[in-house]
Amino acid sequence: MPERPGENLSEFAQVAHQAVDWACQYLAQVRDRPVLSAVAPGEIRSHLPASAPSAGEPLEALFADFERIVLPGITNWNHPRFFAYFANTGSTSGILAELLIATLNVNAMLWRTSPAATEVEEVACNWLRQAMGLPSDFFGLINDTASSSTLYALAAAREAAGLSARSQGVDGRRLRLYTSAEAHSSVEKAGIVLGIGQHGVRKVPVDEKMRLEVSELKRMLAEDRALGLQPFAVVATVGTTSTTSIDPVAAIADICEREELWLHVDAAYGGAAAVLPSHRHVLAGADRADSLVMNPHKWLFTPMDCSVLYCRRPDVLKSAFSLVPDYLTTSEGDEVRNLMDYGTSLGRRFRGLKLWFVLRAFGLEGAARVISSHVAMAKELESWVRADADFELLAPVPFSTVCFAHREGDARTKAIVEAVNQDATVFISHTRVRDRYAIRISIGNLATSLDDVRLAWQKVRTAPN
Ligand SMILES: *Cc1c(COP(=O)(O)O)cnc(C)c1O
Repeated sequence: MPERPGENLSEFAQVAHQAVDWACQYLAQVRDRPVLSAVAPGEIRSHLPASAPSAGEPLEALFADFERIVLPGITNWNHPRFFAYFANTGSTSGILAELLIATLNVNAMLWRTSPAATEVEEVACNWLRQAMGLPSDFFGLINDTASSSTLYALAAAREAAGLSARSQGVDGRRLRLYTSAEAHSSVEKAGIVLGIGQHGVRKVPVDEKMRLEVSELKRMLAEDRALGLQPFAVVATVGTTSTTSIDPVAAIADICEREELWLHVDAAYGGAAAVLPSHRHVLAGADRADSLVMNPHKWLFTPMDCSVLYCRRPDVLKSAFSLVPDYLTTSEGDEVRNLMDYGTSLGRRFRGLKLWFVLRAFGLEGAARVISSHVAMAKELESWVRADADFELLAPVPFSTVCFAHREGDARTKAIVEAVNQDATVFISHTRVRDRYAIRISIGNLATSLDDVRLAWQKVRTAPN
C-alpha cells in the first residue's frame, strides 16, 4: 500500500472496506430496524467525552463507536417504512459519489478551482432540466437546500426591482412578496433575511384544493398598489409541503407578466414527478417562471444535500451576489461561469458529481419507474382511506403523499399518530388541513413496497384508542 504523510492508507483501506460492507448490510437489512430512534434527550451525548482526545485514535475505534454509540440515536431515513415529512433515498450511486467527493475535496467556487466540478454540475443540471421538460434558457446550479435556493431567487427578484438594495441597503418595508397560505416557511424566512419582513410576505388564501386563489392574488396586488406599496415577486408552489397541492402556475405567470413581477416556482418536492410523462403537466406554466427550485435530495434518490436552482435571468442573480475580491480574480473572463457568483457561499461542494452519478445509475426511465410506483402506492392508500368508514381523506393526492383523518376528530387522529410512531415499525407525520389535524403519509423511499404501505395503513387502523 502506498503511503501518504500524516495518514495510514492501509488502515484507511481496511476500515473503509469494512464500512462499505457495513453500508451494504445496512441497506439490505434496514427494514428490520425500528424507523425511529428510541433514545432519550442527552443519551447519546452522555456516551461521548466532553472534549476531543489529545492523542489521535485509530479509525477502527471510530468506526466501532459509530456502530455502538451513534447508530442507536439514528432515525432511519433510508428505511422503506419512513413515511414522515418527505420520504427520500440515499441511493448507492449517490453514496459512492459522496466518497469520491470527499476524497477529491475540491471547492467549486471558481471554474479554475476545479473545471470538472463546474462543468459536471452544469451538465447534470441540464439533464435534469430536460427530464422535467423545462426550456433551455433555464440556467441551473446546485445549492445545499431549497431554503437557500429560494432565498437566492428572491434576492435576484429584489435586485430586478431596481432598488439599489445591493449598494444602498434596503428599507424593505414597502416591498411586497406574495405566496399562498400553504407555501413553505422558507419563503417567509427569505422575506425576513431580505429585509422585507414577515409583514411584507402576503399569504394569499387558497381554494378548496389548497391552491393559491388567483382572484385573491389579484385583489391583494391591487390593494397594495393603491396603498403605494411595491409588489416585486410571487412564489408559486408545485407540491406544497403540507398537502402537495399545485398552484395554478400558468394563471399566476399571466399576472406576473402583466404586473412585471418575478415569478419563483417552488417545486422542491413535486418537480421530481415531472420526470414522468404522465405528470409533466404539473409544471405547466413553469416554463414562464424567472426561477424554479427542485430538490433531488427529496424524491430523486440523491443523498442530502442537493437542491437545484434554475434561473432564467442568471445575469440578475449574478448582479445580486457577485463580489470578487482581488485574490479570487481569474483570467478566463466571460467564457466560464464561476459558481460562487450566484449565491452567498464562496465555498461549494462538488454536489454535481452525485446528481450526475444518480441520473446515470437510474437512467430517466429507471427513475420514472420508481417515482411512478410511489404514485401508484399512494393511489392505493388513498383508495383504502376512501373505502374506510372511520377515516376521511382531507386533500387530493396529486403525487405520493396522502393526508387523512379519523372521523372522530383531532384528538383521536393525534392519538393514532402518536401510537403508531411509538411502535416505530413505521414512521408517519402529521399536518393541519383547513385547521383539522391530519395524518400525513409520504411515499418516497426506493425500497418501499406496497406491503410496507399496507402495514402502515394497518397500524393506523388498529392503533389503540
Ligand atoms: C422541503 C421543502 C422545502 C425546503 O427544503 P430544504 O431543502 O429542506 O430547505 C421548500 N419548499 C417545499 C415545497 C418543500 O417541500
